[in-house]
Amino acid sequence: MGKSTGFLEYLRIDNPSCEPLERIRSYKEFHTPLSEEKRREQAARCMDCGVPYCQNGKMLGGMISGCPLNNLIPEWNDLLFRGSKTAALKRLLMTNNFPEFTSRVCPALCEKACICGVHDEPVSTRDNENAIIEYGFENGLMQPQIPAARSGKKVAVIGSGPSGLAAADTLNKRGHSVTVFERSDRPGGLLMYGIPNMKLEKSVILRRIDLMKAEGVEFRTECNVGENVSAGEILSDFDAVVLACGSANPRDIKAEGRDADGIYFAVDFLKATTKSLLDSELADGKYISAKDKNVVIIGGGDTGNDCVGTSVRHGCKSVVQLEMMPKLPDERAESNPFPEYPRVCKTDYGQEEAIAVFGHDPRIYCTTVKEFIKDANGSLSAVKTVRLEFVPDPKSGRKVPKEIEGSEEILPCELCLIAAGFLGCQSYVAESFGVELDQRTNVKTEAGRHSTNVEKVFTAGDMHIGQSLVVRAIREGRDAAAEVDEFLTGYTNL
Ligand SMILES: Cc1cc2nc3c(=O)[nH]c(=O)nc-3n(C[C@H](O)[C@H](O)[C@H](O)COP(=O)(O)OP(=O)(O)OC[C@H]3O[C@@H](n4cnc5c(N)ncnc54)[C@H](O)[C@@H]3O)c2cc1C
Repeated sequence: MGKSTGFLEYLRIDNPSCEPLERIRSYKEFHTPLSEEKRREQAARCMDCGVPYCQNGKMLGGMISGCPLNNLIPEWNDLLFRGSKTAALKRLLMTNNFPEFTSRVCPALCEKACICGVHDEPVSTRDNENAIIEYGFENGLMQPQIPAARSGKKVAVIGSGPSGLAAADTLNKRGHSVTVFERSDRPGGLLMYGIPNMKLEKSVILRRIDLMKAEGVEFRTECNVGENVSAGEILSDFDAVVLACGSANPRDIKAEGRDADGIYFAVDFLKATTKSLLDSELADGKYISAKDKNVVIIGGGDTGNDCVGTSVRHGCKSVVQLEMMPKLPDERAESNPFPEYPRVCKTDYGQEEAIAVFGHDPRIYCTTVKEFIKDANGSLSAVKTVRLEFVPDPKSGRKVPKEIEGSEEILPCELCLIAAGFLGCQSYVAESFGVELDQRTNVKTEAGRHSTNVEKVFTAGDMHIGQSLVVRAIREGRDAAAEVDEFLTGYTNL
């Protein structure tokens, strides 16, 4: 432990963030790093608590507590405090293929399980991680690691999201020859075409892809496996296959008027903005614009928040985010003790920005859309909302939503974005390989395994576990890679 009294001497300081009204003028990331001295003080706050729940990554109370990658957090916080950044980087890369992604987008499960956070603010572990990995890139320490020998085995990874990239990176470093097939024009999955640029600048992804290419990974974009590339071709050309195609089936809202023009799924809206931004700085106009529109977002989660932040940047007239569930408490409830993931209300960057622009929180709770109202041209002009109460179901006893009679309201709306979650993978890829799906339309495997019912076909990420987090996708990719390695060589030391 670096400084035994660090947590008593130093208060937590987050990386400074640009004011909401300023940052909405661009799509750039808006946090700046702390000075070297302040960063070391932040690392010194790590308590060497003896039982570091932060690196545990186990399910507790139905949610993951601590880092799913089992990052060796107290160790690299200590090295960072001592100024041994190169050693900290080595320790970090032992467990995490892509700290530059997690240190930008992870909800920091580690910080929620930090002992220092029980009575005070937790250690700023995510910002510390970011300082370590960016030091590595800035100082030429992230050089291509080309394997000394090749195994002669070929692996196809289908899908280039964080799980596919983690599997590809791990297998390539082990000496197997890896080709990543991606149906989009750019690799990265939801890192590229889901999470907005202001949260994760796309140059950060391309920097990693360039490194992986230099290390020997081949990327083939615009290859839609099961459509323009057949599963048969892949199975005959490769010794193993990892299916990492994500969980891309959006949950729809079935209400009258759903066919109105002006209703989109959140990811289509977010993807179009990012693609146009990357292709032409939005000059091509090939995106779904929220400019001067009243925007209603259905879904109070993180994807909905990304839609709020993007709509505000487009210059929307108003923005509302509807959430079916009641508002979460501001503090942990007694039934949700440490170190469980805290089920508390957080105000994310998009909501902060909407508050700054419009003067109020965009979220409305216990409310859903009952009807989409069209104008004479069939375009969306308003939504009819209804408030919900939660009452016990007579059969199961579980609380279920019930409409409150007479609570309907009309909200003006020319653009509605559905961010209501995802219902498993798109089945055509699995079908083309003959791979079985489970009841939730995820690829079926034995518990804790990644091999499917088809010989030499494995799976990882959201396609396997359902829509989750980048950090879990990376874990999935690493674990699938270990299984593939064992399958190919008879043993694994991954
Ligand atoms: C809008 C949004 C914001 C999010 N924000 C966060 C966040 O801030 N932090 C966080 O931790 N998590 C976030 N998540 C969740 C996180 O992005 C996902 O859990 C993670 O990306 C899953 O990784 P994956 O590799 O399994 O799949 P994906 O990232 O979905 O990648 C799958 C890839 O497979 C490709 N593909 C699919 N079918 C084929 C095919 N037939 N042939 C070739 N390629 C194919 C797809 O084009 C895609 O590129 C967010 C999710 C969304 C939707």
